Amino acid sequence: MVDWNMTELKHILKAEQFTDIKELDRLFGLADELRAADEKGQVPQSLAGKIVATLFFEPSTRTRLSFEAAALKLGAQVISTENAREALSANKGETLQDTIKIVNGYADIIVLRHYEKGGAEIAAEVSEIPVINAGDGAGEHPTQALGDVYTLQKELGRVAGLKIALVGDLLYGRTVHSLLPILGLYKDVTVYLVSPPQLRFPKEYTKTRIVLKEFDNVEEILPEVDVLYVTRIQKERFASEQEYQNLKGSYVINGENLKKLKKEAIVMHPLPRVDEISSEIDSDPRAAYFRQAQNGLYLRMALLSEILK
Ligand code: ASP
Repeated sequence: MVDWNMTELKHILKAEQFTDIKELDRLFGLADELRAADEKGQVPQSLAGKIVATLFFEPSTRTRLSFEAAALKLGAQVISTENAREALSANKGETLQDTIKIVNGYADIIVLRHYEKGGAEIAAEVSEIPVINAGDGAGEHPTQALGDVYTLQKELGRVAGLKIALVGDLLYGRTVHSLLPILGLYKDVTVYLVSPPQLRFPKEYTKTRIVLKEFDNVEEILPEVDVLYVTRIQKERFASEQEYQNLKGSYVINGENLKKLKKEAIVMHPLPRVDEISSEIDSDPRAAYFRQAQNGLYLRMALLSEILK
């Protein structure tokens, strides 16, 4: 069972809610079915009459647009604010709680991106409709992680036994915070944490049975891994531009690196990339990041239809 967390409502707040591989497989199966239906132009309109509210207090391309496309394809309607920090009454001093209570009267589900870690949980406490955490500051991004694991299944046919390197900003990168607990459900996964010493993976997200190994350098692990999961240095989380500049460009994956990677390995990235993956590798079949983004759409369709059914 998925522990939909604390209430009878199906909130998605943290990756640790997902505790059962069978439940994930069912979700991935549903995503596959919805993809096949979409390819035939025959997506069931199971969300007709529903309203999905997307409230984004931080920038987003894929998460917001894929949630909205997912909702529209399933027949729902969407109300959206992409610049909520400036555009909503939050800018006039309204609390997040009040905003959520108001949107409760307008929509059937809230997809929330907030700049504060824990923002989604604060919202869920006062919400009588489901809240989906679409990124809470440097906290978590559980639906990205579900899409990422779905991608591993699709690309490599399995998750168990994989050797996965998480590379880059592991301190502030919320997608990896959500990914690790889900990877921990599978047997014999090895995770290499590759980051500058200043950007190590926070201990609070390492409650996992996976034995973790930390590295500064990506070179030495390249030949071993099945998955190179690269992340952006999260510029917006740094106290000063200088601090960011010092770490920017810590890792740049290019054609030379790819030569050392196994033939059947894949390169993933939650996107957006800045300079950490050179575009020269985009045409390499191992570059899976655009397929990964597409998978996120179908996974989110599956989640919405599951939660609102
Ligand atoms: N799009 C992802 C996120 O919102 C990754 C990133 O921004 O670097 O967390």
